[in-house]
Amino acid sequence: MGQVIDKTYNGLKVPQGEKITFENGKPVTPDHPIIPFIEGDGIGRDIWKASKRVFDAAVEKAYGDKKKVAWFEVFAGEKAHNEFKEWLPKDSLDALAEFGVGIKGPLTTPVGGGIRSLNVSLRQIFDLYACVRPVRYFKGVPSPVVAPEKLDVVIFRENTEDVYSGIEFASGTPEVKKLIEVIESIAEGKKIRPDSGIGIKPISKTGSQRLVRRAVEYAISRGKSSVTLVHKGNIMKFTEGAFRDWGYQLAEEEFAAKTISEEKLWDEHDGKVPSGKIVIKDRIADSMFQQVLTRPDEYSVLATTNLNGDYLSDACAAQVGGLGIAPGANIGDNCAIFEATHGTAPKYADKDVINPGSVILSGALMFEYLGWTEATNLIHDAFGKTIQQKVVTYDLERLMDGAKKVKTSEFADQIIKNMG
Ligand code: NAP
Repeated sequence: MGQVIDKTYNGLKVPQGEKITFENGKPVTPDHPIIPFIEGDGIGRDIWKASKRVFDAAVEKAYGDKKKVAWFEVFAGEKAHNEFKEWLPKDSLDALAEFGVGIKGPLTTPVGGGIRSLNVSLRQIFDLYACVRPVRYFKGVPSPVVAPEKLDVVIFRENTEDVYSGIEFASGTPEVKKLIEVIESIAEGKKIRPDSGIGIKPISKTGSQRLVRRAVEYAISRGKSSVTLVHKGNIMKFTEGAFRDWGYQLAEEEFAAKTISEEKLWDEHDGKVPSGKIVIKDRIADSMFQQVLTRPDEYSVLATTNLNGDYLSDACAAQVGGLGIAPGANIGDNCAIFEATHGTAPKYADKDVINPGSVILSGALMFEYLGWTEATNLIHDAFGKTIQQKVVTYDLERLMDGAKKVKTSEFADQIIKNMG
């Protein structure tokens, strides 16, 4: 069961197990990995209990005694604040840094007091530059569109740049006045209203290319048909437009043998994809929102900038049944954190009623990332079967005819039963 690591974090002893290491940005997974988890606030408590049982059952079913996760609780959010008077204790960060791959429930963003979103802090501290959101349909989930099964995409959203970099200046401040003077002196003929606030949108070649690299590598390793660069380059040429150009450049320089641009595909191959090649294409963001509704099956992996990705991933999730079952991950070169995409829904906390699907499917995504695809497939199959049996939590039951409403814990029971 791995070595004994004689250490404590937040006063808790590290369980017996082994560390996940990283080679060229990819995890090397031992048979008994130590995986830190943050239970999450509010509904996180119910969801974590249910999800952990599903994860352990899937791993046991897939690998018997050979593999097992050594779960290790680390604290963040309200639980950390109650116990240690800190929202994000240093010990929790050190544990995540040491063990590399973690999973978390939703965290309360403390309002006021200048405290930053804990999720944003984690992304920045560990340079988790790729927000990965797979969006697929599970048969039977109520959806607002006619053919939700046609959408099956994985969205890679750049996580560290763009208007999310936090460089903002409020209207009327001396800083914004200074900035306006500088901009007007260098941007010929441009005028900015003096009562403007200003936000800065940095998009770098480094940030864009490492994100697109991950998206292309993912597409190659999973045998996907295309990677679409989503941008607003028709308007923002040196940020969004540059993202597109750097994306194409990267594909050509690093993946020439495995990729072909859409332009070349039509110029040189009459639109027929040469065998073994992935098509690299690009779409303007507003068009992409239409395309995922009107021609969803023409898209597979999407790579995009931070703001576009934020909107697009929730819009796509809504199309296949909503945030309650949308998984997510934030991935860097030496760390990855898998997480629920919804919040803490405090009014349902500790009532054992909420849908644990988002964390359960985030765990399935984590196992896929770790190379434990048998566990991933078991979870996906059993989750899909449970929905088709119409055994669901309140949020889905209220939208389905003839469904049986079950508690969070009972939903997990049914998934586990369906693994058999
Ligand atoms: P929320 O917690 O996501 O909840 C909003 C509504 O979404 C719920 O009332 C519920 O709708 C539905 N919902 C959310 N999760 C669900 C699930 N697992 N199953 C079924 N329905 C679900 O959003 P919020 O109320 O805006 O935010 C509450 C707190 O969460 C805030 O402190 C916010 O900062 C934080 N937050 C954290 C994260 C994160 O940690 N990743 C993300 C977003 C927000 P119905 O009442 O209609 O059933």
